[in-house]
Parts: sequence; structure tokens; C-alpha cells
Amino acid sequence: MSARIIDGKALAASVRASVRDEVSVLAARGIRPGLAVIIAGKDPASQVYVRNKLRACEEVGVHSELLAFPADVSDATLIGSIEGLNRDPAIHGILVQLPLPKSLDAARILATVSPAKDVDGFHLENIGALVTGQAGFVPCTPAGVMRMLAQENLPLAGRHAVVLGRSNIVGKPMALLLLQKDATVTICHSKSSDLAAITRQADVLVAAVGRAKLVTADMVKPGACVIDVGVNRLADGSLAGDVDFASVKEIAGLITPVPGGVGPMTIALLLVNTLRAARLAAGERA
Ligand code: NAP
Repeated sequence: MSARIIDGKALAASVRASVRDEVSVLAARGIRPGLAVIIAGKDPASQVYVRNKLRACEEVGVHSELLAFPADVSDATLIGSIEGLNRDPAIHGILVQLPLPKSLDAARILATVSPAKDVDGFHLENIGALVTGQAGFVPCTPAGVMRMLAQENLPLAGRHAVVLGRSNIVGKPMALLLLQKDATVTICHSKSSDLAAITRQADVLVAAVGRAKLVTADMVKPGACVIDVGVNRLADGSLAGDVDFASVKEIAGLITPVPGGVGPMTIALLLVNTLRAARLAAGERA
């Protein structure tokens, strides 16, 4: 039997619609959430992501500002502009588009973003909050995946969740969020041996690796929920996830497509986080 496909595009549209409604409620009180996006260099994928984020802001009535710098911008210049944004009352969220050019000190730059405006959840204070189960900003991609799982009412307590990838922006926070929901979590990475033996035990399998079609049908437990975070550009210009969708959908119970799965949820959760930052700045509980 073929898996049910989780429609990330539709779910993201409904999340965006509720953000839009809440933005209008705030507008009546004279508050307009604002997001600043910083980009350095001309990485084509990053430029597309930034454009999509700015368009999403516009659609829901969130004010946005783009600060674009050349690839040879200095740490001091970026840090200075982030400090300015930290003080700017019209800006509630600050996003530094990654990857930054290698010449820059990314850790220092991310640490400059005020934790209260860190809508990407990359500041150590927010990472610490996630690790210890306290309120903070959660990285948008794993937060988007959790929304999808919640929408599907997928039971997680006591289930085995396997996360492929251990990056700071996807794999690790993903694993922590699944752990918060009482899943038994295994994290795999490039040094893990016999990946298939581990993935075959997964009730929930999240692939965040960046290798096209790495996960094949023989690696998946029948009926499992398979979430594909990967975005890979194939030689013919098309996009593919980390999961071999055509074969895996025949064995999984639930599956996300690429495109149209996790990607739209990431942007929707960025809007959710920006709205929350604006509410917190206005002294509301959010
Ligand atoms: P990343 O920083 O490159 O991390 C990749 C992870 O995969 C690393 O932990 C790496 O292990 C592991 N890995 C590499 N080869 C492996 C293999 N053969 N078997 C098992 N693990 C392996 O990437 P990322 O930023 O987490 O992103 C992962 C993917 O998600 C990319 O395709 C990216 O484009 C996509 N992405 C999508 C969204 C979205 O909104 N849809 C958002 C963010 C990222 P080591 O740690 O040992 O090197």
C-alpha cells in the first residue's frame, strides 16, 4: 500500500493564514511585527531562500528589511549592523542567512543577535533553552517538522525516532524536540556504521543529510513515518530530497515530498517565531 503524503504546502498555508489573522489583531493595537534578514555574498540558493522569506513576510503583513552585504564584508561591519537591529524597536526578529562566507566568524556573528530577536533559534541562549526544555526560540525547520507530526496526531512517546544528520540547525534540535515528546531517539551521521540496520528500527525517520535519495525502501520499516528535510539539486536541475520518494512511499505509512514538504513549513515557522518575538516585545505572553 502506498503511504499517505503529508502536504507541507497546504499545512504551511494554513499556518501562514493564522499568522496573518494574528498580525491584523496586533495591527489594531499599533504593533507591526518586523523581521530583518542579513545576507552576505551571492550564493544562489541563499538568495532564493531570502527572497521567499521576504515574500512570505509581505503576504502576512510582517514588515521586513533586507540588509545585503558583499562576500568580503568584515565581521565588524556585520556585528555593527546586528547591534543596530538589536536596538531598533521596529525589528522583532533578526535572521542571518547561512552559510556565511568562510572568511567570517559565523559563531561570533550569531552570538551578537539578541536572544529575544533570535527567530532562527541559533543563539546559544536559545539552544540552551531547547536542551533544558525551557521556553525559547526553536530553529524553524525542526519546529516545522514537529508541527507536521502534531497535525498528523502521530504518537511519539515510546516510539523509536531516528534522525539522520547532526547539524546544529536541523539534526541536533530535531533530535531534542523528539526527545521532549518522549520518543526514544537515535542520531546517525557520516561515521555511523550500518545505517540501514538502524533506520529499519525507526517508527519515525527524519532525513537531514543533503545526499539525494540516500534513504531507499530497504532502509525503512513498513508503515513508518518518513520526513525528508533534504534539498538536493540534481544534474538535470530538478530538486530531490534525501529520500528515494518513489520507492519509499510504497513501504512507509506517511511521507513528506520534496518539494512541497518540510521547506514551506520552515518559512511558516519563521513567521510564527517573528510574531511571537513581537508579542513578547510588547509585553504579552506568547
Ligand atoms: P549539514 O550541516 O551538511 O549536515 C549534514 C549531516 O548529515 C551531518 O551531520 C553529516 O554527518 C550527515 N551525513 C552526511 N553524509 C551522511 C551519510 N552518508 N549518512 C549519514 N549521515 C550523513 O546539513 P544541514 O544544514 O543539516 O542540512 C541537511 C539537508 O537539509 C540539506 O539537504 C539542506 O539543504 C536541507 N535543509 C532543508 C531545509 C528546509 O527548509 N527544507 C532547511 C535546512 C536544511 P557529519 O556530522 O558526520 O558530517
